[in-house]
Amino acid sequence: MDNIYLDCFGIDKKVLDFASDILDGLKERFNDIDNTAEYNQLKVLSAMQAENISEAHLHGSTGYGYADAGRDSLEKVYAGVFKTEDALVRPQIVSGTHAINVALSGNLRPGDELLSPAGRLYDTMDEIIGIRPSSGSLKEYGISYRQAELKDDGTFDYEAVKRSINDKTRLVSIQRSKGYDSRPSFSVKDIGELIAFIKGIKPDVICMVDNCYGEFVEKKEPSELGADMVVGSLIKNPGGGLAPCGGYIAGKKEYVENAAYRLTSPGLGKEVGATLGVNPLMYQGLFLAPTVVSGALKGAVFAAELYGRLGFKTVPGGKDERTDIIQAVELGTSERLLAFCEGIQAAAPVDSFVKPVADAMPGYDSEVVMAAGAFVQGSSIELSADGPLRPPYNVFFQGGLTWPHAKLGMIKSLQCLYEKGLVEL
Ligand SMILES: *Cc1c(COP(=O)(O)O)cnc(C)c1O
Repeated sequence: MDNIYLDCFGIDKKVLDFASDILDGLKERFNDIDNTAEYNQLKVLSAMQAENISEAHLHGSTGYGYADAGRDSLEKVYAGVFKTEDALVRPQIVSGTHAINVALSGNLRPGDELLSPAGRLYDTMDEIIGIRPSSGSLKEYGISYRQAELKDDGTFDYEAVKRSINDKTRLVSIQRSKGYDSRPSFSVKDIGELIAFIKGIKPDVICMVDNCYGEFVEKKEPSELGADMVVGSLIKNPGGGLAPCGGYIAGKKEYVENAAYRLTSPGLGKEVGATLGVNPLMYQGLFLAPTVVSGALKGAVFAAELYGRLGFKTVPGGKDERTDIIQAVELGTSERLLAFCEGIQAAAPVDSFVKPVADAMPGYDSEVVMAAGAFVQGSSIELSADGPLRPPYNVFFQGGLTWPHAKLGMIKSLQCLYEKGLVEL
């Protein structure tokens, strides 16, 4: 077994031995991850069976997309999985950012205020909100924004949240995953408590959760603990690596419909939207998602233990509970960040011969380096690593459609750092 790492992937024996030693200590942890995957697999299966999914649902529609039974049933399956009244699951939602924008702009009206009760939101939200001036932002439509900072230890500042809620507060957006930040991600339980607190102060406020990267990591989703809407991308967890594009919004019927009127048009809403040929991939991807997520999680835990043992700060730590698949490693220098990404790229099934370089990206305010050799462009449920070139040079590593691939990616990243003399073993 070891030989294939040495012979075909240029891994040094020393790197491999170091990795093997770490893996020996991870059996129990991996067992827990498998248990969660089993539970979530059954959850998805039972939602599909409850809708009597049949071969007819795998056909798509063209043109207006009226009466697309596959699309409509897929939305019911998502509602079943997330335990919500309704869902909007569409290939026309181009990304997680778009899904969030549709959910926000469909449900906020001029004069309303959007609140982030848990600090700064994902980079691309700056332009949606209008923090960075942008044409078509919520700000241009007279929707204001307020933010309650987190406490220094990364937990919710309940007093600050309370002070931030006012007559105008209409929608609260909570981001489950840390994204490109070094704060901890929030567990579903933490989010549930925050929502209960907010509803205690203002019951009619809409609580939305940016669920990107969180789906199927725990047995429950935020929508089971009070979230009125959960929103995410299909080229992350719930697409299972097969969905070629798309996003979802699951939640209360009224809020999902409001989002649909924004996505398509007032008056049309959910009734239209051709699925072309993607229904089979959407269903099969969702079906595979729980086990795909478990492979990615194992990769993340492995990374945390590997780099933790080398003395790097990892968020979350190797022993911490997980609520998303993102692993941050604070690499401290741009050389290490670039070498890490080079290793991930070299482990890819597609474009393994490419060397990633840093560049400016729309929506991000510093240069970003990205490693991805994905079947689906930009898919980050596939093995990928990225990081903005700014101190503390955090690399954010995520995905891996299979555990063996995630494992190779980690070993190859370490090999790159080792070869360049950027770490000592
Ligand atoms: C990925 C992500 C988004 C949306 O990103 P897209 O690249 O537009 O899909 C939003 N929030 C978080 C926390 C994310 O991880």
